[in-house]
Amino acid sequence: MITIALSKGRIYDETAPLLKAAGIVARDDPEKSRKLILRTNRADVRLVIVRATDVPTYVQYGAADLGVAGKDVLDEHGGQGLYQPLDLKIARCRMVVAAPAGFDYRRAVRQGARLKVATKYVQTAREHFAAKGVHVDLIKLYGSMELAPLTGLADAIVDLVSTGRTLEANDLKEVEAIAPLSARLIVNQTALKLKRAAIQPLLEAFARATR
Ligand code: ATP
Ligand code: MG
Repeated sequence: MITIALSKGRIYDETAPLLKAAGIVARDDPEKSRKLILRTNRADVRLVIVRATDVPTYVQYGAADLGVAGKDVLDEHGGQGLYQPLDLKIARCRMVVAAPAGFDYRRAVRQGARLKVATKYVQTAREHFAAKGVHVDLIKLYGSMELAPLTGLADAIVDLVSTGRTLEANDLKEVEAIAPLSARLIVNQTALKLKRAAIQPLLEAFARATR
């Protein structure tokens, strides 16, 4: 049995066509079904539906053989035990620093001020500001980062942006780009060795579908 871990929403929606190109079609729609394990047209392939941030964990420990996770999620996880053979070029977005329109970020950085930064992406933010030599107090949040500068919780946020509409709706501006992001195919390193005959054709089909 090959188990593939996916999260509901954009990752599932954008992975489904790639799975289809690899000859795999789910028997249920995760948006409609409450099932967390979805059978597919192939008796030897099943999908498990988990939180986006839990995908690398399922694959790391071998509870799933493969998975699809955003680079943002993989950077926070650390990637231990994972082989990352393929950029699927889906769920594209970018990691940025954003601040209220009235906050002079560049001046604060130039003056060596200690910035309060709220984010779900603590590792990414820590590395980004350390590389720039900017002192920050990081405040870990689990959602709605945009609210933090509006309530005085933080001076700035580190968050994902695709269209920029959410930032705009909350009077925030992108003040610095950190990195472009997309979702990656991840594979359990041990599974790749032990189940190579079954996994290798899937990797090749994904690679063809991504090109
Ligand atoms: P949750 O919404 O359940 O808290 P999440 O935000 O990690 O978890 P999704 O919103 O489904 O889950 O995002 C999954 C992945 O899609 C992210 O890890 C990221 O790589 C990418 N992503 C997130 N937001 C956007 C966006 N606005 N546009 C494009 N891709 C995005
Ligand atoms: Mg989300």
